[in-house]
Amino acid sequence: MSDADSITTLQWLLLTSLSIWIFFDATKIGVKKGQVSGIADMSPIGWLLGCLVLWIIVFPLYLIKRSEFIRINSADTIASIPQQARNKNPKLSLSMDEKVCPYCTELIKQRAIVCRFCGRDLPANKTSSSIRN
Ligand SMILES: [Zn+2]
Repeated sequence: MSDADSITTLQWLLLTSLSIWIFFDATKIGVKKGQVSGIADMSPIGWLLGCLVLWIIVFPLYLIKRSEFIRINSADTIASIPQQARNKNPKLSLSMDEKVCPYCTELIKQRAIVCRFCGRDLPANKTSSSIRN
C-alpha cells in the first residue's frame, strides 16, 4: 500500500464522518425539505448524499445555511405552542360537580386532584366536603 492510497483512505474516512455529522446535525436542528429556497432545500439525507458527492460545495453551503435552519426551526417551535386564546368559555358547559383543568382546559370532576386528561396535579379545590362516601 503506497502513501497515496492511505491518504485517499483517510480522505474518505473524513468525508464519510463529515457527511454523517451533517446528517445528524441537520436531524437535530429539524431540517426538512421545503424550509428554504434554492439548492439548500434538502432533507438531512439529501445533505448527507450531497456531501458525499460534492462536499466541497455542500459542506460550506451547509455551514452557511445552518444558522438559517436553526432560526426557521426555533420559530416553528414558538408558533406551535398552543395559544391561551383557545380556552373555551368555562361557564357555558359547567355542571355542579365539574370544573375546568387550568392546564388543558378539559372538563373534570370537581373533586379531582389529578387531571384525567393531562395527568397534572390540580390546585386543591375549596369546595366544602359535604359529599361523604
Ligand atoms: Zn388537564
